[in-house]
Amino acid sequence: MSPVDPKAPYDDNNIFAKILRGELPCTKVYEDEWAFAFEDIAPVAPIHVLVVPKGKYVSWDDFSERAPAEEIAGFVRAVGKIARDMELVDAGYRLINNIGPQGGQIVPHLHVHLLGGRVMGPMLT
Ligand code: IMP
Repeated sequence: MSPVDPKAPYDDNNIFAKILRGELPCTKVYEDEWAFAFEDIAPVAPIHVLVVPKGKYVSWDDFSERAPAEEIAGFVRAVGKIARDMELVDAGYRLINNIGPQGGQIVPHLHVHLLGGRVMGPMLT
């Protein structure tokens, strides 16, 4: 897959849109009014969950600019709730969001990677 063009319009045929519509399988972890979460197909940690907003947003940049405050709050709260539900708070966990080509974003539907279950190394590279 090619890196995401941050200026491209939302593509209804992206993989995560299909997962949200139930057209592709996933291992679901969580769902509420604002967010849907499922296991990453290529995990890099014992726990590697992708949390996506139900709305159509290409990236964090798109989401933070266009989404209504209620939707932003609902999504952010869902990410925190998933971590609490998975009992990750005491041990700690990592959230990652890749944006655009230099950020390493491949799938053009906003997703937050939630990683846990091991000690994370430094990642400021
Ligand atoms: P990005 O580089 O931040 O866009 O991350 C995309 C993530 O989606 C990668 O970690 C992939 O392993 C993951 N991924 C791609 N296709 C699927 C799928 O069909 N199900 C679950 N995860 C996927």
